[in-house]
Amino acid sequence: MPVTWFLTGASRGIGLEITRQLLESSSNTVFASCRSPATAFDLDALKSSPGTLHIIQIDVMDEISIKAGCSKVLELLNGTGLDYVINNAAINHAGDLAFSFDPAALAETIQCNVTGPALVTRFLLPSIEKSSRKVIVNISSPLASIGRDLGPISTSYSISKTGLNMLTYKQSRERPDFIPILMDPGWVKTDMGGEGAKIEPHVSVTGILNVATKLTSADAGKFYTYLGKVNPW
Ligand code: NDP
Repeated sequence: MPVTWFLTGASRGIGLEITRQLLESSSNTVFASCRSPATAFDLDALKSSPGTLHIIQIDVMDEISIKAGCSKVLELLNGTGLDYVINNAAINHAGDLAFSFDPAALAETIQCNVTGPALVTRFLLPSIEKSSRKVIVNISSPLASIGRDLGPISTSYSISKTGLNMLTYKQSRERPDFIPILMDPGWVKTDMGGEGAKIEPHVSVTGILNVATKLTSADAGKFYTYLGKVNPW
């Protein structure tokens, strides 16, 4: 029985590396979604990997696209369960401050980073229910944590990821049979990570997958780092 995975934002960065590592094993089937499959050349190149790759079009800003992409996943699963859902796609209008942020940027960031993951998981629900694992990994950030105290930067992004944290907590309370968790990937060398990032994508993703595959129901609603430590809220 293959282990089945779904993720968003698989075109580059952490999402591409998650897909690459998962496809190293022939026992994994990966539904890797991205908003522009026609230009996702690095993702397309993974088709020759040992695991099974299905590339699915999903723009997490667009409910119609999310619904259509998730329907395609359910169709391909053909009544079998989806073991892991990873909500990874996100945007960050870096640098915006609490007293000067652009309201349109806040609305867009919440749409992408909170509403998108909420709808993705909602439309995939029938397949998650059929799995024996039922793991949902929502990729968050230390910028969502007051306890980590990263200062006044990235106000819209921080608000959105804090919203994602609460969504995950609510999911864990509503469905005690699911294992929804939050994952802090570290400061990773990607387009979003930018200058100064410390961690290679392969190191972050090795940690993320190590944590994700060891989760039990006792972990539901928790906020883990890629090293398996619990982040403060
Ligand atoms: P990147 O900016 O490198 O990649 C972002 C990915 O999200 C791309 O695949 C992009 O697709 C996709 N994406 C953006 N908007 C949409 C959309 N509307 N629909 C579908 N896909 C979309 O980011 P990272 O890989 O660094 O980040 C991945 C996750 O990790 C995010 O949730 C981020 O918040 C989180 N994170 C990252 C940190 C870091 O240091 N890098 C630190 C903490 C958290 P496209 O190619 O089409 O633009």
